[in-house]
Amino acid sequence: MSAFGAFLKGKCPQCREGDVFTHKSTNLKHFRELYENCPSCRVKYESEPGFFWGAMYFSYAYSVASFIMIGFFFFTLSDDVNLGYYIGAVIAFTLITSPASFRMSRLLMMYIAAPYRKFLGNYTDNR
Ligand SMILES: [Zn+2]
Repeated sequence: MSAFGAFLKGKCPQCREGDVFTHKSTNLKHFRELYENCPSCRVKYESEPGFFWGAMYFSYAYSVASFIMIGFFFFTLSDDVNLGYYIGAVIAFTLITSPASFRMSRLLMMYIAAPYRKFLGNYTDNR
């Protein structure tokens, strides 16, 4: 499987076979939960403490891009846009896509920020 295909399916960045997340993104109660280690190759997903904090930058970029796209959509359709509609659309879009945004950000963090790392076992085992 290609890296891009594995990314889209939410597979492990190391072996591209094991799932990263324990539930589907449509499961609103558990969409955030991911396996600690890959079920297939046992690589540790959170390669260092606080590793996924960096995913916030991807999520932020996605949010800003979506605000701009929604604004472009609204303000090219009409010359007289009610600001309340724009804000409502942004809030609705953000809420609806937040599970996908969350998962995409974590996957991007793993695939882009640390694709070369192999973390097995405890943090102290990798020094
Ligand atoms: Zn794996």
